[in-house]
Amino acid sequence: MQTADVVIIGGGIVGTSIAYHLTLAGQQNVLILERESHQGKGSTGKSMGGVRAQFSTPVNIQMSLYSIPFYATFEERLGHPSGYKSQGYLFLATSQAHLDYLNENQKLQRSLGLKNVEMIAVGELRKTYAQLRTDDVLAASFCPTDGFVDPYSAMTGFTACACENGARILRGTEVTAIERESDSFRLRTSKDDVSASVVVNAAGAWAAEIAKMVDVDLPVTPLRRMLIPTEPFDAFPHTAPMIIDMSNGFHFRPEALGFLLAWNDPEENSSGYNTDFDPAFIEKVLTRAADRVPCFENLAVNPKRAWAGLYEMTPDHHAILGPVSQVPGFFLANGFSGHGVMHAPATGKILSDLILHGKTDVADAHWLRLSRFAENDLIHETALL
Ligand SMILES: Cc1cc2nc3c(=O)[nH]c(=O)nc-3n(C[C@H](O)[C@H](O)[C@H](O)COP(=O)(O)OP(=O)(O)OC[C@H]3O[C@@H](n4cnc5c(N)ncnc54)[C@H](O)[C@@H]3O)c2cc1C
Repeated sequence: MQTADVVIIGGGIVGTSIAYHLTLAGQQNVLILERESHQGKGSTGKSMGGVRAQFSTPVNIQMSLYSIPFYATFEERLGHPSGYKSQGYLFLATSQAHLDYLNENQKLQRSLGLKNVEMIAVGELRKTYAQLRTDDVLAASFCPTDGFVDPYSAMTGFTACACENGARILRGTEVTAIERESDSFRLRTSKDDVSASVVVNAAGAWAAEIAKMVDVDLPVTPLRRMLIPTEPFDAFPHTAPMIIDMSNGFHFRPEALGFLLAWNDPEENSSGYNTDFDPAFIEKVLTRAADRVPCFENLAVNPKRAWAGLYEMTPDHHAILGPVSQVPGFFLANGFSGHGVMHAPATGKILSDLILHGKTDVADAHWLRLSRFAENDLIHETALL
């Protein structure tokens, strides 16, 4: 039997950020339980690594306004690289409705403190990225501090620092049941039992299964998402931002000597744990890639290098963070709906604040409480990729 003050279920980027923030705030005896023998086998190791503050709701923007400067100073803070590259996100508006939407979002983003988001005229776009087809583009929204990180590296840094601060991690340890005792929990695992007074669910796409163990109905469902890395390609600048074609959702960014291609396939809408890569996806993405960037018709792709992972979706596409009122001591850090890497630093700080002090000033975390679903008090994020 092991004991801990705080047990975190899941050793991905979210669980390890929570452990880091808790130990930084002085919490002793923090224990991470990770089912796999190696961390990163969940969504963290499959992510595109994009970080952006260009969202449409205040709470998501606030989460990014904590997280992106955190990633920018990660190495100074933790002594480990996060791989942050401030190459920006560029949303290409191809209709007046897109333009109105981006302008509205920019107003909100600026009002919350994001000063460097700007609209780029199409003439300027043509000068910088002559390879883009811009005949149907009206303008583009650009924020230079958006960009990319290396999720695996950040997760490793969070883990190492948390452990230097006294946390422990048990890999190859699956939580199989949670029993509530008078003022603590007993976790049954594939190894020893663990007793703890606080339990944090950071189990990514599997979070609903963990919640079920304490009879909590958590609306988090897994959704397969696929990414295609290309072979080396230098006919498009590697200094480019994440570029999003709003006409169809195709987006891409530089990665190593090639590019990473993504698209939210509307036919991919049934939830499940399947993470097989579907080779038919390649044709669909390459068609859209060559449509927006004509020289991409010469891109080479090795299907064996493409992969699939799971988004953890919620009905309003916002995370679910904080305590569960009917299960005192049980906390949630789930349902990031495709934004768990970029929001991991803020999530770590918010969970640490809520566990230790019962409140946080990082974001209006009230919007992310579980009870919003029962209360029908949802806020919908529409800037989804
Ligand atoms: C293709 C793809 C692209 C993405 N792109 C982006 C992006 O550009 N930007 C962004 O911010 N986000 C992106 N995401 C989303 C992001 O990867 C996730 O939101 C994030 O990694 C979630 O982190 P996590 O730690 O909560 O989950 P995970 O990394 O999945 O970690 C959860 C851990 O819990 C463990 N676990 C589960 N059940 C148990 C159990 N019973 N006992 C013990 N351990 C257990 C798992 O093994 C896993 O290691 C992308 C995701 C995918 C799939």
